[in-house]
Amino acid sequence: MLSWSAAVLAATALVLAIGFARHRLLLLAIVLAATIAARAAGGDRALQSVLAFAPILLLVAALMPEARWRTKRNAGWLLLLAFALLIGLHAPAHVAAGLDRVLIGLWPGSDPGRGAAAVVGVASLACLVRWVVRGAMAELTASLALLGFALALAWLAQVERSMQALAATGCTITLGLLYGAYRMAFVDALSGLRNRRALDEALERLSGSYAIAMVDIDHFKSFNDSHGHAAGDVVLREVASRLRRHAGSASYRYGGEEFCIVFEDAAVERAEASLESVRAAIEARAFRVRPIGRDGKPGKPKDVKVTVSLGVADRSEKRRTPKEVITAADKALYRAKASGRNRVMRG
Ligand code: GH3
Ligand code: MG
Ligand code: MG
Repeated sequence: MLSWSAAVLAATALVLAIGFARHRLLLLAIVLAATIAARAAGGDRALQSVLAFAPILLLVAALMPEARWRTKRNAGWLLLLAFALLIGLHAPAHVAAGLDRVLIGLWPGSDPGRGAAAVVGVASLACLVRWVVRGAMAELTASLALLGFALALAWLAQVERSMQALAATGCTITLGLLYGAYRMAFVDALSGLRNRRALDEALERLSGSYAIAMVDIDHFKSFNDSHGHAAGDVVLREVASRLRRHAGSASYRYGGEEFCIVFEDAAVERAEASLESVRAAIEARAFRVRPIGRDGKPGKPKDVKVTVSLGVADRSEKRRTPKEVITAADKALYRAKASGRNRVMRG
């Protein structure tokens, strides 16, 4: 039963990794599926082969750059796996024993299972470091999945326990891929705020009294023109982080340099006071950017300031739907722009 659930989870991980083109996770899922098959087949020989080859394969998969699927590197890796499976199942006993002695002898410590687990632990650490540096969700998933696999190797002698760890590994890859897909659908990659699609869904659920604010960065086109798009992106991220600090998960990237904040159960007066503090916080902050010089290269870091204009409106007898409230907030934003920018206006 347990081996069936582990096999189903490994197959799911495999299919999702192919679907989302996450090639590192696909390599992990392939080793996972092969290990579960070897474990279920029950032969000592096949398991010994996993112990001998899986750590090398996983370490290589963790260290290889994530590239297109059809590369010489991936082909070599798959050939090595096929070779390992062939040895595990068909090689004469003395050839297999000789190879094991050489390969398993490589792993640290006297217990081969623990030694192999330590090598996979290093692979997990490599992915963790990459996640810290780059922040890619797939790297954290790979790191956690490798940790699960390392436990499965450390417990290889205990059938039930190691199968549980293998099932957990498949589950980690599956959940990691699904969570990554959720973030791609609902979170804006540049600002880290929830996106327009998430806003549209939140608006559909709104009821009772609420207020909605529209926020727009002032003169952002000329900011981009004079400091470069990369500097503009830094400012967008910083403004988004200020909004998140003040309004939490109620702030969204509406599109371009425009943001939207939804105040549930809040009167417009309270929303206005909160927006005023956001506006003042952004105005007070100096953003460090590296403007692009005439030669196209980044110049010396420079502190620059930006301001935002905000319009806010609440639900009332006049405007009953979220769409009407947003239109009113947009009009108020327009008035804020027309009357000099860097201010909050109520619709
Ligand atoms: P206003 O004060 O009236 O809002 O003027 P503005 O220049 O901010 O407004 P406009 O709508 O003319 O320009 C918006 C600019 O925002 C144009 C575009 O280059 C910039 N922008 C939109 N999205 C991004 C982005 O993702 N990154 C960067 N760097 N710039 C962006
Ligand atoms: Mg705009
Ligand atoms: Mg603007």
